Amino acid sequence: MAYRITLIPGDGIGPEVVEAARRAVEATGVAVEWDHQDMGAGIFARIGDPLPAATLASIRSTGVALKGPVETPVTSGMRSVNLALRRELELFACVRPCRLYPGVPAYYDAVDIVVVRENIEDMYTGIEFEEGTAATTELIRFVSETSGQEMRADTGISVKTISEFGSERIVRFAFELAIHQGRKALTAGHKANIMKFTDGLFLETARRVAEEHPQIAFDDRIIDALCMQLIQSPERFDVLVLPNFYGDVVSDVAAGLIGGLGVAPGGHVGEKAAVFEATHGTAPRLAGRNRANPVGITLSAAMMLRHIGEDDAGDRLEAAVADMLAEGTYLTDDLRWTGDDRLPATTLQVADAIIERLKA
Ligand code: NAD
Repeated sequence: MAYRITLIPGDGIGPEVVEAARRAVEATGVAVEWDHQDMGAGIFARIGDPLPAATLASIRSTGVALKGPVETPVTSGMRSVNLALRRELELFACVRPCRLYPGVPAYYDAVDIVVVRENIEDMYTGIEFEEGTAATTELIRFVSETSGQEMRADTGISVKTISEFGSERIVRFAFELAIHQGRKALTAGHKANIMKFTDGLFLETARRVAEEHPQIAFDDRIIDALCMQLIQSPERFDVLVLPNFYGDVVSDVAAGLIGGLGVAPGGHVGEKAAVFEATHGTAPRLAGRNRANPVGITLSAAMMLRHIGEDDAGDRLEAAVADMLAEGTYLTDDLRWTGDDRLPATTLQVADAIIERLKA
């Protein structure tokens, strides 16, 4: 029987790269019945809603989606359509494998890190107080009275929230992922020395959960040192687990280690649903030009296949991408060093080269 999977093309380069990944999934031989749904600026322009109820209902029903990047229209009144999706579906874990494939120009010999980011809490709850409003003035007064800490009257405030529940859930998820993937070590990133009641709680919870998983070596790093060490010697790291905000930044740092956004895959996972998408955005400069790199979304599709239990198809798809990259002919513009004057490959050529390998 065919798997039912929600397919969201998205905005900008989304439709081109999603189509490339869809074709690659079909070429693995796994039967899929795609449920095409919309999200982002395109559908907002048509119906005035960037996250239609039908899209959410589809993902709730299929339990899995392959999604292109989307733009949040400023006039939608929505802070971020992606954050809304993750919150609605309680996709609490963002998984970003960062593996350097031979053939991809990079400054390192070997990188193989999985970044696990908490996806719901921290600075992304949207709890904010605008400078000069009555609520902000009241909050400033409350903070002064209860903590003795003064804030300027013209301060804007964003609230950082980290719970024991959210920390335990993401750290447990990271340990389970590490065990499932046969990995050896998990490192937690934080700034517990400064933010004792948020990052401190995250670290304390991580240490407690680590005691239940002695087969995985656990350690932690202060986030600034972690960033420095990632750049200096990424081979020191295996799986990273991070609160939302640091996870966002470190995911892109890690993407930079392996050739950039064009090749970085990802998945947002919850108890009841999972949405797979590349790390990159809509890259408006490249939209509609057959120039975007479809590797990030195709590797996300390989993650998706493993998620639904089609491990062999996921492995074959990843191997086809790796082989195509190693061969070196089909590199899009973003994977060319300055001075490499060979013609860059198009989105379609890359997709065809991957599919050819799957059919061989
Ligand atoms: P971006 O990822 O779209 O682009 C950053 C740079 O990387 C650009 O130079 C772009 O050309 C290049 N790039 C990105 N993907 C590429 C690919 N597949 N192939 C080749 N080059 C690629 O980030 P941005 O410019 O900060 O954001 C553009 C829009 O995308 C914004 O509206 C943002 O909100 C949205 N966005 C959406 C998502 C998502 O839906 N998951 C994620 C990030 C950004």
